[in-house]
Amino acid sequence: MKRAAKNALKTPRETEEITLVGAGLAGSLLAIDLAGRGHRVTIYERRPDPRRAGASTGRSINLALANRGIHALERAGLMDRLRPALIPMAGRMLHDESGGLRMIPYGNKPHEVIHSVSRGGLNSLLMDAAEATGRVSIRFGHACRGVDFASRRVRIRSGASSEIDEFPYEILLGTDGSASAVRAAILEKTGGDLTEEPLGHGYKELSIPAAPGGAFRMEKNALHIWPRGEYMLIALPNADGSFTATLFLPNDGEESFGALRTADDVRRLFERRFADAIPLMPGLAREFFANPTGHLETIRCRPWFFEDHALLLGDAAHAIVPFHGQGANAAFEDCDALDDCLAREAEPWDEIFADFESLRRPDADAIAAMALENYVEMRSTVRDPGFQLKKDLSFRLEERHPRRFIPRYSMVMFHRIPYAEAQRRGAIQEGILEELTRGAKSVEDVDFENADRMIEERLGNEALLLEV
Ligand SMILES: Cc1cc2nc3c(=O)[nH]c(=O)nc-3n(C[C@H](O)[C@H](O)[C@H](O)COP(=O)(O)OP(=O)(O)OC[C@H]3O[C@@H](n4cnc5c(N)ncnc54)[C@H](O)[C@@H]3O)c2cc1C
Repeated sequence: MKRAAKNALKTPRETEEITLVGAGLAGSLLAIDLAGRGHRVTIYERRPDPRRAGASTGRSINLALANRGIHALERAGLMDRLRPALIPMAGRMLHDESGGLRMIPYGNKPHEVIHSVSRGGLNSLLMDAAEATGRVSIRFGHACRGVDFASRRVRIRSGASSEIDEFPYEILLGTDGSASAVRAAILEKTGGDLTEEPLGHGYKELSIPAAPGGAFRMEKNALHIWPRGEYMLIALPNADGSFTATLFLPNDGEESFGALRTADDVRRLFERRFADAIPLMPGLAREFFANPTGHLETIRCRPWFFEDHALLLGDAAHAIVPFHGQGANAAFEDCDALDDCLAREAEPWDEIFADFESLRRPDADAIAAMALENYVEMRSTVRDPGFQLKKDLSFRLEERHPRRFIPRYSMVMFHRIPYAEAQRRGAIQEGILEELTRGAKSVEDVDFENADRMIEERLGNEALLLEV
């Protein structure tokens, strides 16, 4: 009986039409992958079309793209078009409180850089490419309001109407971001678990305009950080010579968003802690009060799918804090992983969904934890001489053992070693670095014979298979 029921389930080869909710970064890329496998795809997207004039133009919001995201975009044939829009960032440019600057390179090799890219530009490029397949239709202004699993229908509110229409689906993929309506429906249906872990800190986007003539007012090829212990300001370059700055602060307390009530409060904080940024930010007070304060949290849920009906990907399944610059990269990697599962066309959808979840869940948990740790590194630890020493030493150890010892940051950003593996090896490596730097003032004080022995003993049997 069970077998007969199983056999009745459709496989990807038999399913013609796939419905997505959310045409953000993951949804648009996934649609391209699915169209490449011969499916027709309908995406219901809550927002209006961002490519139409008037839709959220004027603000340059960017994100950091790294190797995992680039690989997925390359696989979809999009990198030739995207590459001219990328601004390489070779390291962190630290701004100290007296205006001093210090560059800490991200990687050990010239190609080990991350890239600043316009979020809107990237999303538009993905939407264009999805529509150009001739198999993808994006229905803008259509917000998902729930799912009726019994009749395989998705509930949609379109435009300003208060009416809810129901549209049938064969397979439903929830790429509707951190407040996912598809997730709510799956968890309600399955009695699953949702954990929302607030960070207790929020963020505010601000801008550093270009100098006259479109010149950059600071080093272009760097991610700028003003690390201030409990909080920080960062800035990423945009193609037009401007930077998008983001202020991260606790929500409450003496120095917090809650304490900044007037333009004078904001100015005083910047005069005390970010003085060199003030001349770069002529619209500081106005933007501070005009722009919303964003909320930061880690979202974990279980399960990610319901039977052979629906699956969550990207932020809908695992929203993380932004401090490793990996949320979009991980969402793109999800698309690759599902596409790999779909290559096994004979498997029914419920098995594909289960395979996807068991493959990606450990990695989602690992990057969520590493992203939280990276906040402490960016706002505080980067200032310590011990951090610089460990960074220098880890590069030297990587040169001596290129297939065994790769700094954790590099494993996450410049390789596609699964996140969980990067986390596991990173913990072993941190132990080695800790022991080797005890009492050392510079890399020259380190006993490299001992280092080689430790690496052989603790990572010896585990040469990494590295992809380019
Ligand atoms: C401040 C900040 C900085 C970040 N920086 C980086 C970075 O540098 N690098 C990086 O890799 N990641 C970064 N991220 C994370 C990244 O933005 C997300 O991980 C990524 O956007 C996830 O893609 P997604 O497609 O899953 O979700 P989203 O991009 O959020 O897309 C979801 C889409 O679904 C639509 N939608 C939502 N609800 C509905 C509904 N009910 N019905 C229909 N449509 C709906 C939305 O309008 C949207 O288009 C950052 C995040 C923040 C907050």
